[in-house]
Amino acid sequence: MATSVKLNTGAHMPIVGLGTWKSPPGKVAEAVKAAISAGYRHIDGAYVYQNEVEVGEGIAAAIKDGVVKREELFIVSKLWCTFHDKSMVRQACEKTLSDLKLDYLDLYLVHWPMGFKAGSDLFPTDSAGDTISDNSNFLDTWEGMEDLVDAGLVKAIGISNFNRDQTERLLNKPGLKYKPATNQVECHPFLTQEKLISYCHSKGISVTAYSPLGSPDRPWAKPDDPSLLEHPDIKAIADKYNKTTAQVLIRFHIERNVIVIPKSITPHRIQENFQVFDFQLNDEDMKTILGFNRNWRVCAFLINKKHKDYPFHTEF
Ligand code: NDP
Repeated sequence: MATSVKLNTGAHMPIVGLGTWKSPPGKVAEAVKAAISAGYRHIDGAYVYQNEVEVGEGIAAAIKDGVVKREELFIVSKLWCTFHDKSMVRQACEKTLSDLKLDYLDLYLVHWPMGFKAGSDLFPTDSAGDTISDNSNFLDTWEGMEDLVDAGLVKAIGISNFNRDQTERLLNKPGLKYKPATNQVECHPFLTQEKLISYCHSKGISVTAYSPLGSPDRPWAKPDDPSLLEHPDIKAIADKYNKTTAQVLIRFHIERNVIVIPKSITPHRIQENFQVFDFQLNDEDMKTILGFNRNWRVCAFLINKKHKDYPFHTEF
């Protein structure tokens, strides 16, 4: 059973990785260590999560303890929106590398297609509460990303939260040197992304699913929001295989050859979320789960809805 996805660079990206958004600095190093001990080889991070120093400590401890070698790991980070000016891309990547204490990343993503005003405020807003754009063009940002590959700082580059048209604009960029290796987007049974996945796969771009469990710890969760982890029909499928709802939610992506990055800081859940290679969902289960789609987003990032590059005004 495939445990990795082959990227258009030829590299193999482990199909299950550990998410680290909202994993607090005091907990995330232990979570990373627990994940690597449980068999994870892929860690998903980002500068904006503000915990990369501790993520790096977890990685360093696992290497020091002889559990894993650096070259066996697949480490991902993301360029934050305040660094979209082409001249700032390298310094942003070098900051992440120095925080992680690594000399290269396996994959570096443009976190969002939108550029924000540069500066120490990671979410610069105007008096009306809207994000302040830097008027950058993500096609220029991409050239800065390509330079990182040539400089040996990153093995591969990709995108995140790009819609179909934005992805296509990038693919059609005159002089494009490297295609994105992945598009990391929100995906779970309430946002099944069938059209975007099919488009990306048809172009040789892998897809990584974020918030696969519905992100119950998202700061803006409301009590009557729908819950995936407590969905009775998903629980019924899980019971059939003697698995948990979380394991079915993760396996759902593996069946579609989509990379998936559940977040947890709880050692027994970290282990549980990796025990997904000893069962399969059948076509009927997949059809049932795909039927739950309601185009519901955890990360609509609505303070940017007036931004020229806001990705979610179009259907997909
Ligand atoms: P997830 O859907 O992964 O859900 C995380 C939550 O589920 C946490 O509260 C966690 O609790 C809980 N949980 C984890 N495993 C289990 C389990 N087996 N049973 C019950 N509860 C469980 O949410 P995220 O939004 O964090 O998405 C995953 C990752 O995707 C992020 O961490 C980040 O790396 C990436 N991401 C990327 C984005 C982008 O813009 N590119 C946007 C959003 C996410 P606990 O930790 O307490 O165990």
